[in-house]
Amino acid sequence: MCGVFGYVGDPVDLGDRLLSGLQTLEYRGYDSWGIALARDQAIAVDKRIGRIAGVSTALSGSDIGFGHTRWATHGGVTEPNAHPHLDCSGRLAIVHNGIIENHRDLRAELLARGHAFRSATDSEVVAHLLEEQVGQGRNLASAVANVFARLQGLNAIVAMDVVSRQLVATKHVSPLVAGSVDRGAYIASDALALRPHLDQVVYLEDGQLALMDRAGLRVVDRATLQWIEPARVTLDRNLDDARLGDHPHFMAKEMAEQPAVLERLVIHQRPQIEAMAEAVGSTPTTLIGCGTALNAALTGRYLFARIAGAGVDVVAASEFASFAPLLRPDGMVLALSQSGETVDVLEAVKAAESYGARLGAIVNTPHSSLDRLVDLRVLLGAGPEQCVLATKSYTAKVATLLLLAHAVRGSYAEGAALVVRAAEALARMLEPGSVAEIQQLANRIHSSDHLFVIGRGLAYPSALEAALKIKEVSYIHAEGFASGELKHGVIALVSDGTPCLVYAPADETRADVLSGAAELKSRGAFIVGIGPEPDPIFDIHLAVPETGDASPIVNALPAQLLGYHTALLRGNDPDRPRNLAKSVTVK
Ligand code: GLU
Repeated sequence: MCGVFGYVGDPVDLGDRLLSGLQTLEYRGYDSWGIALARDQAIAVDKRIGRIAGVSTALSGSDIGFGHTRWATHGGVTEPNAHPHLDCSGRLAIVHNGIIENHRDLRAELLARGHAFRSATDSEVVAHLLEEQVGQGRNLASAVANVFARLQGLNAIVAMDVVSRQLVATKHVSPLVAGSVDRGAYIASDALALRPHLDQVVYLEDGQLALMDRAGLRVVDRATLQWIEPARVTLDRNLDDARLGDHPHFMAKEMAEQPAVLERLVIHQRPQIEAMAEAVGSTPTTLIGCGTALNAALTGRYLFARIAGAGVDVVAASEFASFAPLLRPDGMVLALSQSGETVDVLEAVKAAESYGARLGAIVNTPHSSLDRLVDLRVLLGAGPEQCVLATKSYTAKVATLLLLAHAVRGSYAEGAALVVRAAEALARMLEPGSVAEIQQLANRIHSSDHLFVIGRGLAYPSALEAALKIKEVSYIHAEGFASGELKHGVIALVSDGTPCLVYAPADETRADVLSGAAELKSRGAFIVGIGPEPDPIFDIHLAVPETGDASPIVNALPAQLLGYHTALLRGNDPDRPRNLAKSVTVK
């Protein structure tokens, strides 16, 4: 969600460079974009609604500038509301990620002092507050520090001054990464955008301020403006991971990567998983996450009960504030996240920290805010996930939780064998013959208005995740239920031909789930059975290999493929579903 990319240094063809920097952030999701660069002592701006791909800009050479992809929170999706925003004088420009919670008061104050606003955003107040500070003779660094102190919320800002030829950036929770080049520096909200330009980067911490000009990057403490020697991180240069290759979409690429991701995970992540198992095994543990990560956490709850005989709590990260005061001093909070930047997750982890809980994470993005916040982590090692929909990060999280539950029980090797079996099963399910069956099913259901998914026990969170995947990308109304809950309400919505996916793994839940399927069928539902064995109640059977407790891993793929092919039939872009963002960095 919302991206920032900036450069200062030797003059380059900056318009194009900013556009390609922003394009690497496109996967995060946005609705409009803009760039600004210095032309002598003035700032030239180009802002547009919609995608960057295929667009060119008349803005060209410059020594300083930045761009922003906006996911609108305050003010409609319009060109004036796109960032960057300028002050009244045209000397300063800003880009902003986040929400300025006290923007109304700040705007009223600035209007009363005669500032003219050009947008309806919360962000623009920053440009005018800076204008006053710089007007009083402060340099850009101290102006940004003073203004940032007035902003409430979880924000990242970058400011540009055409007079001093500086970029200054600071943040609270929302991420920023920067680094030096010969006679200059880059900054972005995501290290992915910096990989083509830099080997080493600095992940800006809360309370720090980055100062960038032709002397490179310097980091200072925001309160004292004293110089700090920041920790530098070497970037993984394996760019191939981030490229589409022969695949038509990132979603297709990332689904296809799942077998390899799981096989790697079993071997490489073993030390991290075993270290985490020691903590989790001796501590009351709460799993938190949002969206797909929450579904993975729910799956983890069932896996822990089945495999380790242990109870874990699961709470949506956005709801965690109600439960944080109940944390025991020896408790552990384990946060699940692909990006490691989801604001609701970061807030929950900070709340847990304030109650003295031990902090852990299962996270895909190394050096992300979440990774840096916790004491114990398992890095999924799934590589960049650029489709807005989570696929490989979901199955990797479920596999990690299965391995963790086994490690707590002292049977890692048993868990590893199951995950490898699931990886091999996924590879077979990705073969063209199996995919063709799902394409046919997509043809059958793509014009449906509603779709239901049921599962029981371990397959219940699989039903929730399947429905989420299908609705996110196809925009068909899809809902997942515990099959026992059907008759307590949902069944009222089933009518002739309503597609219903039924997870029927070869476990103790099968008979009950098949009864649920029979109840649906009696109301006219079109039953798609997903499981190792066929059954006469199924109108269509999607066979998934039997993988025991790893069934949530193999159960995920048919729904991912069905969502993908249904989206294509409906003319939707599977990589960038409407209104969704990859990492949700606003509350
Ligand atoms: N709240 C700001 C706006 O609506 C920034 C949103 C974003 O982070 O992209 O413009």
